[in-house]
Amino acid sequence: SSGSDENDVVVIGGGPGGYVAAIKAAQLGLKTTCIEKRGALGGTCLNVGCIPSKALLHSSHMYHEAKHAFAHHGIKLASVEIDLPAMLAQKDNAVKGLTRGIEGLFKKNKVTYVKGYGKFLSPNEVSVETIDGGNTVVKGKHIIVATGSDVKSLPGITIDEKKIVSSTGALSLSEVPKKLIVIGAGYIGLEMGSVWGRLGSEVTVVEFAADIVPSMDGEIRKQFQRSLEKQKMKFMLKTKVVSVDASGDGVKLTVEPAEGGDQTTLEADVVLVSAGRTPFTSGLDLEKIGVETDKGGRILVNERFLTNVSGVYAIGDVIPGPMLAHKAEEDGVACVEFIAGKHGHVDYDKVPGVCYTHPEVASVGKTEEQLKKDGVSYRVGKFPFMANSRAKAIDNAEGLVKILADKETDKILGVHIMSPNAGELIHEAVLAINYDASSEDIARVCHAHPTMSEALKEAAMATYDKPIHI
Ligand code: FAD
Repeated sequence: SSGSDENDVVVIGGGPGGYVAAIKAAQLGLKTTCIEKRGALGGTCLNVGCIPSKALLHSSHMYHEAKHAFAHHGIKLASVEIDLPAMLAQKDNAVKGLTRGIEGLFKKNKVTYVKGYGKFLSPNEVSVETIDGGNTVVKGKHIIVATGSDVKSLPGITIDEKKIVSSTGALSLSEVPKKLIVIGAGYIGLEMGSVWGRLGSEVTVVEFAADIVPSMDGEIRKQFQRSLEKQKMKFMLKTKVVSVDASGDGVKLTVEPAEGGDQTTLEADVVLVSAGRTPFTSGLDLEKIGVETDKGGRILVNERFLTNVSGVYAIGDVIPGPMLAHKAEEDGVACVEFIAGKHGHVDYDKVPGVCYTHPEVASVGKTEEQLKKDGVSYRVGKFPFMANSRAKAIDNAEGLVKILADKETDKILGVHIMSPNAGELIHEAVLAINYDASSEDIARVCHAHPTMSEALKEAAMATYDKPIHI
């Protein structure tokens, strides 16, 4: 439909990077078309990522609470059972509602939506094989590549999405596996491992590195791992997967110590491969127009998200930086602000990261290990939720807040929270760090009582002075 009319902005990819860029561009008065091959907007995040995983994390947590925590709160249940199809249906409905919501936003903002696979004909022309079998050329003065990322497998492992699954298959297993092996102890592996563990699977996480989630602050990581182990998640660290054999009934996994040594065989009903994600640019014909990528296939851009080819931009998972939905959205807004002649800004050092397990782990800024490595002198302030009245009242007192601030100026350099609601609590710290606040700034702000946010205030007090409640 947009056919040969010239657009100001054409966005390839309708994920959180692409759809947000398209809406923002339209809001800035630019004529905008967004091309998406999936047939649904929202990208990886909404269709097979952030949203469905959080739906299942919540449902499985409710089940787990009903089984293990309700009685302690004086709520007796005769029996608790899982209705897996109903659980998966609630997840699918949430996704469906949200993707339609974005279509609605496109209509409201007059973004033209083309359903199909886009590839470059020239730096301002995209040929689209449409989902209904047609072909159209979409022209634009500025073209933004927002094609995101895809699952990365490991050498010798073929993902069949039944017995050997990626995160996508792990979001819709037809039954609860008795034994689940997760390859890779990153955010996604731990989240999906938690889902199935709560629903009854025996979960073993195999990780090549010496630690789970290497980007996490070490002290927090240790407590986090202990907490997951208490939930019966098993870890085999410094372990290399040699081969995976799915020819029999279940799956046989041959592993060996990362430093070399004797091989052992593990058995599972389902193996989840969550060994990272890789930028997705296949079929785009980037080479044809000469867009430069790095060794990992990520598109190289400058601070305006412009590639080496004039008029061609890239944002989100397909460029270097944290592979997170909110980072992709920030990229999208800043990119179109530059296109519209305004200024945009994204500071990748201040992007929060959240692992949505129970408890959640959320962080922003530097870890203690990074500060040591950079030779920065810092102070540490900590406050455990065991000493927080709200956390005790609701019997959810696992975890702590840890603040790292510059030793001389007291400027906050990093904040790390482990708590059931850390993903919400972190934003006070994100705001503080973005405004170059000191720990005293947080400590002197009145926080409502009784809230878990008070733990952040107390940790801030502990950073430059003394906390009250411990
Ligand atoms: P994508 O979301 O990957 O979107 C790209 C879109 O482009 C896709 O829909 C694709 O179909 C389309 N496309 C690609 N090529 C073409 C083409 N040639 N023509 C037309 N369309 C094309 N991040 C978080 O921040 N929080 C989380 O809790 C979280 N949980 C996750 C859980 C899982 C299981 C997974 C897999 C990821 C999770 N992520 C999470 C990461 C998050 O999904 C990504 O960072 C985010 O989706 C990146 O957005 P994007 O717009 O760059 O790319």
